[in-house]
Amino acid sequence: MSISTSCQQNFSKVFGRESLIVARSPGRVNLIGEHVDYQLGWVMPFAVDRYIECAAAALVEPEIRIWSSSIGGAPLRIALNDLRALDGSDSWANYVIGVVAKYAEAGVEVTGFESVIDGNLPLGAGLSSSAALEAVTALVVENVSGTAKSPSDRSKLCQAAEHDFAGVPCGLMDQLAVNHGRVGHALMIDCRDLTLTPLPLPEELSYVMVNSGVRHALADGEYAKRKADCEAAASMLEVTTLREATLPVVNAARESLGDRLYRRARHVVTENARVEHFAEALTSGNRTALGQLMAASHASLRDDYEVSCSELDLLVEMASRLGAVGSRMTGGGFGGCTINLVPRDDAARFCEDICRTYRETHGQSVEAFTVAPVDGAAIL
Ligand code: ADP
Ligand code: MG
Repeated sequence: MSISTSCQQNFSKVFGRESLIVARSPGRVNLIGEHVDYQLGWVMPFAVDRYIECAAAALVEPEIRIWSSSIGGAPLRIALNDLRALDGSDSWANYVIGVVAKYAEAGVEVTGFESVIDGNLPLGAGLSSSAALEAVTALVVENVSGTAKSPSDRSKLCQAAEHDFAGVPCGLMDQLAVNHGRVGHALMIDCRDLTLTPLPLPEELSYVMVNSGVRHALADGEYAKRKADCEAAASMLEVTTLREATLPVVNAARESLGDRLYRRARHVVTENARVEHFAEALTSGNRTALGQLMAASHASLRDDYEVSCSELDLLVEMASRLGAVGSRMTGGGFGGCTINLVPRDDAARFCEDICRTYRETHGQSVEAFTVAPVDGAAIL
């Protein structure tokens, strides 16, 4: 059964009537440019063919009623005049409530609605289910309230929701990627001025995600610490963000920055340069360079930025031994997925081999699957 069918059927079951619209958002994976969006650097994500869908219908009552197949239980009811973050097992709803609240703050007269969320995008695996949930909610809010935002304005409202309601101080990459995705392309995004350049992805490569299945508890606190380290380094270098710094500038300040801030800053400036080189290598079809840049990105995230973990390091090493063109951790780190570029006709064998080898050497199972670049979030 397609996600849309199951989403609409669940809507009928939960709310006892037919849904009127279905919004769909892809997840995203980042090819390169990790932990630089909040320093206004360069990133290169693409929207992936794993989705969250939201079937919805407007309500006369000034409230929202939401239910997710991933959570179950009774639908949550939230009054439009009482939009605030929820705790505990209801906290998943903060991504939805936050988006509604941000549209209201932006002056949109939000109409009540009921909605059901369904999909095949794994939660918390680094494929950005959070941005996808925000995007489908935003599209539903726009539709029932009779307003339309540009994908970039929608992305900013979604980011504000994630900051203020989910408590995650994220950059803008995830929201831009799921809202602007373009089939067959990665998006090279300049997070300083939000210029998006679609880059065609080579058809002879497959994009294989390997989900380590681990999520280390320190992830959230460490994210905020990295952000604070970057801000401290930028202030010592007398720039607004590390986007304005270069490697020679960072090297010259090595002593005054001290070891930790030096390494954090070195990651950001070298990663920004790698994104530009990656774009050139994509355009010229230079597979060796793609692989080397992904390896250097992973090493920098592991050694300088310290956001990898033993499982991800092992998967990256294994991938290169098993014939990947390139492999690196992707997303926030401390678990989640690696992204692997593999020759298309070798992808099935690669998926099988990496799962088997990891199980045999590490005693744990991992999941490997291919993703393809697709269009961004839309009402179906
Ligand atoms: P990622 O964005 O990488 O998947 P996050 O931790 O940023 O990981 O976001 C995952 C959270 O988003 C989940 O823990 C849950 O609160 C919320 N979420 C995402 N998708 C859904 C869904 N389909 N139903 C309910 N909550 C969801
Ligand atoms: Mg997320």
